[in-house]
Amino acid sequence: MINLNTTCPNTWCIGCGNFAILGAIKAVLQSLADEGLPLENIVLVSGIGCHAKIVDYINVNSFYSLHGRVVPVAEAIKLSRSNVKVIGFSGDGDSYGEGMEHLIFAAKRNIDITMIIHNNRVYGLTTGQYTPTSPLGFKGRSTPFGTKELPINPLEVMLASGATFLARGTSHGLELLKKIFKEAILHKGFSLIDVLQVCVTFDNLYEYYDKRVYELQDHKPWERQEALTKIREWNYNNDGRIPLGVLYRTEAPTFDEECKMGNKIFDRDSKIREYLQRSCL
Ligand code: SF4
Repeated sequence: MINLNTTCPNTWCIGCGNFAILGAIKAVLQSLADEGLPLENIVLVSGIGCHAKIVDYINVNSFYSLHGRVVPVAEAIKLSRSNVKVIGFSGDGDSYGEGMEHLIFAAKRNIDITMIIHNNRVYGLTTGQYTPTSPLGFKGRSTPFGTKELPINPLEVMLASGATFLARGTSHGLELLKKIFKEAILHKGFSLIDVLQVCVTFDNLYEYYDKRVYELQDHKPWERQEALTKIREWNYNNDGRIPLGVLYRTEAPTFDEECKMGNKIFDRDSKIREYLQRSCL
């Protein structure tokens, strides 16, 4: 049994959905280690927001990045160390707001990283402003009279961008989270899990989700049209049922493999030597 705990005091609110994500990822890391994956070959990256503290609570190599910049940091780590598994943690404000362009390009490239989005549909750390996935009419610190815009469906954006693994879980479905986290980490290519993580302090949606979520059965995640239909079943605003599980999965060449084959990025040392020799002549 590996000790994944740290001595860092946990500052999340009692009842926060982040605890479930922490519990699930620790269980998955433990099981990967039991199966022979050295944990020094895993790097965690987080952004800015309540979610970001997760890396303080797991005894694995990690990098705290800037707001909206989890993806470029994760991509850089993967490109420089192809044997490392990189898991990015980000919030809905962090990645669907400021960092959305990075997500789109990571999906388009199919770079082999996993993104776990703590989607609580509110900026919790800054005390309750609306985010790209807040429902129409959401009343928060920055919108006391309610928002005037519809939320985006991030999974639909990711599917259109070329992501090869898409899943959804909730922070009160621990067993499903463990299953989809592990599948996503072992997937070769860009994987994203949208976790409907409840923020008990600024947008307590436990009851709302309890009434609507269901786990996918007999779903064929390799069929794109079927995946799209399931992804559109709930648009983050309507009162439709909310499907959970692996929504889409396919195989495609990864960006890191393509770079390695071209041998342009990774042959840095010989290029430097060649340049130094030329400049000494
Ligand atoms: Fe969790 Fe919300 Fe508290 Fe942040 S503010 S720790 S998201 S409950």
